[in-house]
Amino acid sequence: MNEFDLIDHCFLPLGGKHSEVLRGIGDDAACLRLPAGQDLLVATDTLVSGVHFLPEWSAADIGWRALMCNISDIAAMGGVPRWLSLALTAETTEPHWYQEFARGLQEAMALYDLALIGGDTTRGPLTISISLQGLVPQGQAVYRHGAKAGDLIVVTGPLGAAALAVAQIEGRVSLAQDVADQAMAKLKRPQARMDFSLAVREFATAAIDISDGLSADLGHICRQSGLGVCLQVDKLPLHPLLNRLPIEQAIDIALTGGDDYEICMTVNPARLGHFQAWLRQQGLTAALIGCMEAEPGMRLLDGQGRRVPIAPRGYDHFKGEPNAGHKSE
Ligand code: ADP
Ligand code: MG
Repeated sequence: MNEFDLIDHCFLPLGGKHSEVLRGIGDDAACLRLPAGQDLLVATDTLVSGVHFLPEWSAADIGWRALMCNISDIAAMGGVPRWLSLALTAETTEPHWYQEFARGLQEAMALYDLALIGGDTTRGPLTISISLQGLVPQGQAVYRHGAKAGDLIVVTGPLGAAALAVAQIEGRVSLAQDVADQAMAKLKRPQARMDFSLAVREFATAAIDISDGLSADLGHICRQSGLGVCLQVDKLPLHPLLNRLPIEQAIDIALTGGDDYEICMTVNPARLGHFQAWLRQQGLTAALIGCMEAEPGMRLLDGQGRRVPIAPRGYDHFKGEPNAGHKSE
């Protein structure tokens, strides 16, 4: 298979049928006609073999994950994903690998009716870069800087399962096989919280996808909103897979571990009732974990009612902490 056969065989079938796509795969550039009244969202994430995933993972899992991390970013802005382009660099010439990669990508695309509109295919160390475009009604995108003192902090789901798998890969924990398998499944096949995208738009003053870890990503909301935060330790939604760890270690993983693809949003307390009614109507749950404060910095309210200062901590590519050797986007 040459490069063009590969594109025709593996990627052309993912082109979809969107009326907004005037020209997709097959030309020098894709051409889109944007619907009136919508703003365009653009998110790009790059996954590098050995950093964001391990080369021995199935190609389908890698394809799924590469897209899901972008979908999570669009959801956290309150938008709906629509089109993607794929820059794929790989060493292998094995058609099966590309077919499997395309299959995993397609499985994630099918959940949200996405169209692949172009990309680039090159030989080299395995790296996947996806740029995903989405739509949000004009003027309604939700940013990191909109939080106000007194806003409640909401997290959309349990934390720490994927980071537990990373800890196992790095030998920092030793898990029972069933726990390790379930944690690995969370790491390899994350589910972006598109089911919260509308709530972000309707109820959030600020929002962020917490793929780098809750404390690091909430730190961005604090900095950009010029505020601080107090989190209640007993309200953190620890994933049940963390149950067998010492509680301090479970809390640390939930606070600083990445790869969860949940959303953290801030909600004006006056809107809480409406938000909770919406959750009930949708059959969804979310955790209220704390409050934005005027005083800069991050504090953890412990079981004894003490306010313990903590530093935002998550992965930084240029420091390699705390999950050196593996991280999210
Ligand atoms: P160019 O030389 O203009 O960069 P290419 O020959 O690289 O074009 O690509 C041919 C067409 O196939 C383009 O429309 C491009 O967007 C598309 N394409 C290339 N690689 C991929 C890919 N991995 N996934 C989707 N579309 C791709
Ligand atoms: Mg090209």
